[in-house]
Amino acid sequence: MARVHFRWNPKNRYSIAALGGVLDFDLVRKPEAGIMLYSFASPQARSVFREVGSASTDSVFIAGGPHPSGCPGETLEHFDYVVVGEGEETLPDLVSTLNHGGDVSGVKGIAYKKDGKVIFTPKRGEADLDGHPPFKPPLFGPIEITRGCPWSCAYCQTPRLFGHHMRHRSVEAICKYDKFYEDKRLVSPNAFAYGSDGITPDEAAVENLLKSLSGNIYFGTFPSEVRPEFVTPRMLELVNAYCANREIHLGGQSGSDRMLKAIHRGHTAAQVLDAVELTHDNGLTPVVDFIFGLPGEREEDQQLTVDCINAIIKEGGKVRAHYFMPLPGTELADTKPEKISPTIDKLLGKLALGGRLTGSWSDVKALKKQ
Ligand code: SF4
Repeated sequence: MARVHFRWNPKNRYSIAALGGVLDFDLVRKPEAGIMLYSFASPQARSVFREVGSASTDSVFIAGGPHPSGCPGETLEHFDYVVVGEGEETLPDLVSTLNHGGDVSGVKGIAYKKDGKVIFTPKRGEADLDGHPPFKPPLFGPIEITRGCPWSCAYCQTPRLFGHHMRHRSVEAICKYDKFYEDKRLVSPNAFAYGSDGITPDEAAVENLLKSLSGNIYFGTFPSEVRPEFVTPRMLELVNAYCANREIHLGGQSGSDRMLKAIHRGHTAAQVLDAVELTHDNGLTPVVDFIFGLPGEREEDQQLTVDCINAIIKEGGKVRAHYFMPLPGTELADTKPEKISPTIDKLLGKLALGGRLTGSWSDVKALKKQ
């Protein structure tokens, strides 16, 4: 039996922790002989491909995660197999088949090359969250409470990777992980949608979840976020009653209704501002994400986003600005980011200096480069 190794990557530690619950492996920092597993997103793809391309070990290389799932053909130029989509059931099946010398064509949900052609095996059904742990000690991650999303935001990989309907981990299954740590972060594409169809909030389901947990609960905040139209007075009351977080992270994305429509967000800029006001009025700090450089975005759209940012900051909120990056598998995969106009760049620079506007390092660098 070949030894199974997972390439440690702090950026994907939550996926690694989740897969630790379904497969035994050791964590390594460079390729080792045996079966080498990698999980990565687009920003890490180039360095991963370089590492795998220059490896001299006797290894079978398997890739999974957002980038390989969105770009299996490109990934197979460097890897032997790609796990497409969810890994909890496919990865153990593939590893076991390889270790027993079986026929990989019978493993659902993978891609590989045969005679230079990319072969896709039949799609695997969606994993049942209750049947798979969110992590396995000593690897810890947040508790994933929901997977999938009924919305189709043009830039987002979530519904493409995890399906268009929401699957919720049951309260009973979530409570099994309550004992592992005091500070627990509940992760979802839209935390306030817990227990619902993802279109209409179910406040009773959220209350039932929150009152069943102990310790410091972080809900509706990083690394999750909340859609603005799910911010209701009752949801905020529940956060104040049961949770430790004092911030609510909202997906705003643009201050321009034209752009919000173009990317199929399904809400307006006014709804973002209403959610900000409600959050602030309930004693919590709204933190809103925006994306600059969306394809087709004009200077007037960028100005509307800056106006929205100013209104949020005036309301005591904070803003995280991101620069658009086309992601594989999404509707905008083959597009290019629009440039930020010099006038908007200056305005953003001033806001950043004020400390209420931040972004990840690469985002800020990208904003400065424009
Ligand atoms: S951005 Fe959020 S709401 Fe939109 S599709 Fe992705 S997960 Fe769903």
